[in-house]
This record gives sequence, C-alpha cells and structure tokens, in this order.
Amino acid sequence: MSAMIINGTEIAQQLRIDVTKEVAERVQAGKPKPGLATVLVGDNPASHVYVRSKQKACAEAGIDSFGFDLPASASQQEIQDLVKKLNDDPKVNGILVQLPLPKGLDEEGVLSAIRLEKDVDGFHPINIGRLAQKGRDPLFVPCTPSGCMLLLEKFMPQIEGKNAVVLGRSNIVGMPVALLLVRANATVTICHSRSTDLPEIIRQADILIAAVGRPEMVRGDWLKPGSVIIDVGINRVDDASKPKGYRLVGDVNYQEALEVAGAITPVPGGVGPMTIAMLLKNTLTASKIAND
Ligand code: NAD
Repeated sequence: MSAMIINGTEIAQQLRIDVTKEVAERVQAGKPKPGLATVLVGDNPASHVYVRSKQKACAEAGIDSFGFDLPASASQQEIQDLVKKLNDDPKVNGILVQLPLPKGLDEEGVLSAIRLEKDVDGFHPINIGRLAQKGRDPLFVPCTPSGCMLLLEKFMPQIEGKNAVVLGRSNIVGMPVALLLVRANATVTICHSRSTDLPEIIRQADILIAAVGRPEMVRGDWLKPGSVIIDVGINRVDDASKPKGYRLVGDVNYQEALEVAGAITPVPGGVGPMTIAMLLKNTLTASKIAND
C-alpha cells in the first residue's frame, strides 16, 4: 500500500490565488486594500525569515504590509503602545505579533492588547477561549491549526466520530488543533512529553496530527493502516549530500508511513505553506469586518 500524498503546496497556492482574486475584485469595487501590520521584537533569525515571507506573500496577494521592528530591549509598555496605535489605524486590518517574544516579556499581555477584530493570528485569549467553548465562535482561528484542518478535511470529509490523536500540546499548534478536532466532533486524545505508551495510543488513531518537533519520532508500525497523517513538525537533520548540509524532515518517518497510512502530508510541502495562506485569508476577513 502507498499512501496518498497531501500536497499542501498546491492547496495553499489555490487558496492564495482565491484570496488575490477577491482582494483585486474588492479594490476594483472601491474598497480599501487589506493591510497587515507585523510586529517583530528582537533578532531571532527564524522570526525574521518568517516575517519577511509573510510580508512577501502579502505583496503577492495585493495586501499592504507594514513592518514594525523593535529591539530585544523594548519594554512591555512600548510594545503594547505600538499595538494600541495599530488598533486605531484604519489602514491596518490585521496585527501579527511574531512569537516567541524575547524572554522577560509578558506574551499574554501583548496578545490581549490586540483588538479582537484585528487578531488575524487568532492568539488573543478571548479568541482561544471561544475556540474551547461550545456554542461560541472565535473571530479568528490560529493559522497553522486551521491549515491542518483544511488539509485533513480534503482527504477525510467525515471527521465526526473518528479517533484523532494530537501529538503535542503547545499553545501555537497542538492545543488549538485539538480544540478544532473536538469542534469537528472527533474523539480526541492529546499526547505530550509526559505521555506513556505512545505507539499503543497512536495505533488507535484514524487521524494523527504530529506537532512535536522531534525528527521522525513516529514510526510506521505505530500507525493504524489507512489513517490520515498531518505532520506539522519541521526538523533539520544533517545531510552531507545536500548543498546546505541538512534536510528537513517531519515528526513522522515518512518512508515508513507511506507504506501504512491512507494519506500523509510531506515535509516540506505539507502543512508549512498552509500557515501563510491562512494568514492571508484571515487578513482579508479582517478587512471585510472593518469595511463591509
Ligand atoms: P513546542 O516545542 O512548543 O511543543 C512541542 C510539544 O511536543 C509539547 O507539547 C511537548 O509536550 C510535546 N513533546 C515533546 N517531546 C515529546 C515526546 N517525546 N513525546 C510526545 N510529545 C512530546 O513546539 P510547537 O511550536 O508546537 O511546534 C512543533 C513542531 O511544529 C516543530 O517542529 C515546529 O517547527 C513545527 N511548526 C510548524 C509550523 C508550520 O508548519 N507552519 C508552525 C508551527 C510549528
């Protein structure tokens, strides 16, 4: 058996085409261009790369982006004052504070300062709280988890009643994706670094979302035959045959999983491209909230 490959690059590209088209139509109809403000604090090289690629994607979609770089020494007050200024700026529809913030800063304080209608990353405590409650709807859902769900739904239209295992319970991926699966009426088990008997638990999973950050930790013989695997992990492993001296792998052993799973996302080219596509979509939604 060989699993179907869930091509996140293609699905994300289609989403970006749709957003670009809708933005162009709205501008043509006299609506303002959507705008995204990015707030980057400190000099974490990975964060710089992520923010630059988000700004580039905005430009490609016809969305304005406004970059604000603050030094690692910026105070809590300075960051929150900037967020408040952006809250009041009508050209800014979405505010993205790149996480993690440098040590010593209160992340929740900064995220709470973002106006709910501009919380395109979906990390405002009220949006996350609503995600966890029955009958309440968040205005925005975090981008990587919603990207995972979109990929999953394409290959498993009927999630209700399925056994889903989420590996990882981070605020950014594991926990919100588990909440989304609960909302989709799956039966959800969340595993983490203190969990025992992982292979046994994962063997029950019709759906596995792996968001751990450990290269190829999940082996083929841990998987239920025919299951759908969404691999969020992005890990570098040394590889002298590659020009950069490394290659990227997921949290799941891809080659082994191909033999057992029904469908699987590759790394790279699976969940990764979805995050930015969902951010563009959320920014367009924020612009509609502000202007329609
Ligand atoms: P994190 O370090 O915040 O959380 C990791 C989680 O894995 C924790 O909940 C921890 O309990 C769990 N864990 C760690 N070791 C474990 C073990 N041995 N067994 C079971 N659980 C274990 O990481 P994160 O921010 O959630 O990111 C996870 C992975 O996803 C990383 O590789 C990251 O690079 C990747 N990621 C990708 C995207 C994207 O594709 N756009 C976005 C965010 C994160």
